[in-house]
Formats: sequence, structure tokens, C-alpha cells
Amino acid sequence: MRYPQTFLDDLKRQADIVRVVGDYVQLKKKGANWMACCPFHKEKTPSFSVSPAKEIFYCFGCHKGGSVFNFVMEMERVSFPEAIKLVAEKSGVPLPKLIDDSRFEARRNEADAVIELNKWALEWWEQQLESSGEARIARDYLNRREITDETRKTFRMGYAPDSWDALSIHLRQKGATQDQIERSGLVVKKEEGGSYDRFRGRLIFPVMDIQGKPIAFGGRTLRDEDAKYINSPETAAYVKGRNLFGLNLTRDEIRRAGFVILVEGFLDLIVPYQFGVRNVVASLGTALTPDQARLMSRFARKVVVNYDGDNAGVQAAKKAIAILLAEDLEVKILVLPDGSDPDEFIRKSGVSEYQQQRGLAQPHIQFVIDQAVRDRKLSNPADKEAAIDEVLPYIHAVRSRLQKHEYFDIAMDSLRIVDASLKRELWHSIRQGTGEGARAGESAKTTIKRAAVKPTVAEIQLLELLLDDETVRRNILPKMEPADYEDLPTASIFRAIVAIENEGAGVDFGRLSSLIDETDSAAELLPMLLMGDAAPDNENQDNVRPKAEKCLDALRLMNINGKIRELHAEISEAERAGDETKLVRLSVEYSELNRLRKSFEPQSQIAQAENA
Ligand SMILES: [Zn+2]
Repeated sequence: MRYPQTFLDDLKRQADIVRVVGDYVQLKKKGANWMACCPFHKEKTPSFSVSPAKEIFYCFGCHKGGSVFNFVMEMERVSFPEAIKLVAEKSGVPLPKLIDDSRFEARRNEADAVIELNKWALEWWEQQLESSGEARIARDYLNRREITDETRKTFRMGYAPDSWDALSIHLRQKGATQDQIERSGLVVKKEEGGSYDRFRGRLIFPVMDIQGKPIAFGGRTLRDEDAKYINSPETAAYVKGRNLFGLNLTRDEIRRAGFVILVEGFLDLIVPYQFGVRNVVASLGTALTPDQARLMSRFARKVVVNYDGDNAGVQAAKKAIAILLAEDLEVKILVLPDGSDPDEFIRKSGVSEYQQQRGLAQPHIQFVIDQAVRDRKLSNPADKEAAIDEVLPYIHAVRSRLQKHEYFDIAMDSLRIVDASLKRELWHSIRQGTGEGARAGESAKTTIKRAAVKPTVAEIQLLELLLDDETVRRNILPKMEPADYEDLPTASIFRAIVAIENEGAGVDFGRLSSLIDETDSAAELLPMLLMGDAAPDNENQDNVRPKAEKCLDALRLMNINGKIRELHAEISEAERAGDETKLVRLSVEYSELNRLRKSFEPQSQIAQAENA
């Protein structure tokens, strides 16, 4: 279902971002903008601002920003269509009839039907656990694990009786058809037709979506059986690897704490939760997926991975690191003493001991290095090489250049690599994404591609001026060539501005974001750029254009400097190879570039400062 475009356009015009945001935070007028303490991160002095003129919000602290719809999506944790509905309600714009989109509707209906059946099943299972005689075995198990009634109810645990059809009968009595029951995944279809209950004689843990609706189940056996846990199959309501167990209950605490503890199993989350550690999610069974990492990143940028201490847990933690780094999350690793999992450890040693251990969690790089040097002798060249091979991918995967460098230095020290030229080569291989460093797995590789170098000051200023001032656009854009910006991390924004200018349209947030691919990391910069004050209203207009020209010159100079650096490397290579003809050609190129650089001389200092 979609809303008609005319309604959306209307709503965009009528929605008052100050009023909507003002429902959530206390805004104070400051100049043309409104300021408040940011609702998305902890702060004492306001850095969250709303511009009614530009119809955007932006936080100078945590860099969240966007339209009124983005704000509501973030605040209420709702999808875009739901945000539209809320904004319309708050702005007093009547909602129109939805445009029918039958395929989407069909899928939605099927997912709703599965969830409906899940609800029936869950309520019934909860009752069983609460009061049936057969469920005593499950209640005893929970007692042994020191899980209280309150916790059992919070997590809505249940008990599935040891029967082939008790649940199916119950669902049919509630009015479900055989077809619906089969599609819900609550039963296993038989080849000869018919079906039997999937969960039998098991303690049930429901998996909720972020709104707290049951989308799937895990069932733990209470007897001696091979499969300790069995899980729901994929259904219209449930895709594996898209959800995190517990997040519906822990998301606020995660946001408040500023970091999330990632654990593996149901009880690894439930037990800490009961003891007051509530910024936790569980990845459940299969390896962590990029979807799950992205989901976490919506609530916190820091993750403490607390998997089991056994070998399988360590291997799983290493895989998780690569996935989390690719989403630009800061990762620490917590390995509890004696290979305990969080559930065991907290029950045995208490929550304050757990918190203390958590405080000692290692930065991911230290964990990876420790694993790499374990059972290896660094004095043995082959061992050393193997250790380097093992560590580099995890540095390669780090997105922040500064942090990457820091981790690289730590690794070089720990692996006792002192030779300067070897270090340089290794650093080069990490930065280029070639050589051994590139083995960090597919997600890390794509990260590198996306991990745009941070935009420079000159680039940011120029964009701010172009976005802010029509005269600047009219004067500067015709002077610019695609070559001036195509290699920049913000190229897509420049392209969008040029396109809008060519259309003769106005530059605004909505139009710009529609021209920039969502996955382009430059898109995130838009609110900041639009909020920027490179050209304050009171500044003399005469100063603005020269300012923009200076920025453009600085960009061009940096571009030339980059080419010269590349040429340098090529020349040394040709020298080593003794390739005379190539050397001559490169030298000619080199002196041409140098001449070009000289023509920028007065700005060269600016460029160097910007580069630093
Ligand atoms: Zn903020």
C-alpha cells in the first residue's frame, strides 16, 4: 500500500518540523534555528538543531539528521509509511485512501496470518507452562536456572506439551485452517499428507520483532535428546538472520548505555537481563549476519561481543568481528574466565563481577592478535608470517582511517615488526585492499570500497557554499569539471547539485536525497552540509564567491598532489626495474604536474592544512 504522491507533496509543505520535533524535545529558539539537547545521544549542552527554513534537523554531536519523517522514524522506531501517518496526524493533514499495491498487501496479509497463529500458540504455551502438570519438568528446569516467574513472564516463555497434535487441535479450535497451520511453521508437514506439531515436550522461547510480535520460536528440550534446541523455519513473518533476540525489550537501555552486549543464546540474554544487565541482544544459533549488525548499529555504535569461551565461541566471535567492522561499529571482545558463557558466569559469580569483566573487554584488534600469536613462535619467520596474515584482514576492515592506523601500529608492535620498509608495504597492502590484507571476507572488501576517505575541509566548505547560495551555484558550477569532484567521497552530492541546477530547480533536502543513492555514505552528510554556516547570513556577499573559488582551487591542488604522490611511487618502481623509457615518460609527466602545482602556489599552504 502506498500514499498518493500529491498527498505526500502536500504533507511535506504543511508539516511543521519545529512543531513535530517540539513534541519530543524542549526546543529553544536561537537565531534562525531551534536548539535542544539531542534525543539520540547523551549530552548536557544542546547540539541538536532544527531549521524550519530548510525543513531539516541535524545533531552536531552524533551527526544524526534529516527530514521530519527521518526524525519520527528514528524516534518512534517506525517504518517510513508509519512515520508519514504520524506526521500527518500531528500536522492535522487528513490521511487519504491508500493506493492498493496488491502484491505487497498479499505478503503483508500472509505475514499477519502467521503472526496471528503464533500469538494463539504462544498464549496457549504460556498457559501450559504456568499450570499444566506435565510442564513441571520445565518449571523445575527454570528453578534450577534461578529464573524467576517475573522473568519467565517478561520473556513470555512457554511449554509445548509432548504431543503430536495438541497444538494443531488447539489452533483448529480457534478457527485456523490446515493450510494456515502448515504455512505458520508451527507444524512439520508429512510427505504422505497431514502434519504434526513441530515443538513437543519443549520449553518455548518466543522470538519477537522489534514491536514485540511473536515471529518465530526456539524450543529447548528438557530430556536427553540430540537436538538441544529446535527453531521455527522461515515463514512469511520470519527471515533468519534479520532479527535479534531481546531487542524489543532492551533497545532503550542499549541506547542509554551507548553500547550493546552481543551474546549467543536465549539464556545468555535472559539471565543477565534478570540480574539487571539490560543492554544485551542475542544473535541466536547461526552466525551473525550483516542485517543483524545494521540493526544493532541503529541503537549503538559500540558492541561488546560476549560469546562462549570455548573454541567454537572464539571462532564465532572472530567471524562476528568482521561483520561488525564492516558496519563501522567499534568492537570489543569479552571472554569470560574458564570458558563460561554469560548465563553460567552471572549465576556463579554475580553481576558485579560480570560488569567488572566487561570493563576489561579487549579492543577487537588485541583479541585477534592474541589468537594469532597463541601457539606460534614469533621468532620463527613462518609462524610470524602466518600471524601477520591472520591479523591484517581485521585492520583492513576498519573503516575509520585514523583508527585503522592506530590498530596497525598496535599490531606491528605486538607482532614485533620493526623493519620500516616491511611496515610500509603492509600498510600499503591494507590501504589498497590488495595482497594478504584483502582476505577479510566479502563484506570487509566492500567496506573498503565504501569506506570513503573522510571529506576534506575544502570540499565541505565548497559544498556548503554551493548549497547555501544560488549566486555561488550560478558562478562556480560552470567553472567546474567532473574531474574536479569525481574522485571525491562526496562526488554524488556534487553530481546532484549539478543535475538540479541544470533542471533549473531549487536545491533542497528532499530533491537532493532523491538523487543520491541511499547506500552512498555521502548521503549521510547532507543534513550537516545544509546546516553548515560557511556563508553566514550577515557575511558580505562579496566575500562568498572568492571563498568558494579558493575552496575549488584547494581541491584542484589536492588532486594534483595526489597524482604527484602516485607518480612518485611509479617512478621508484621504474627505477627498481631499470625501465629507462618508462622513467623518461614519467619524468616528463612529473615536471608538468609540478609546473601546474606551482601555479597554485599561494594556496598551497591552505591545501596542506586541509590535507592534514
Ligand atoms: Zn545527537
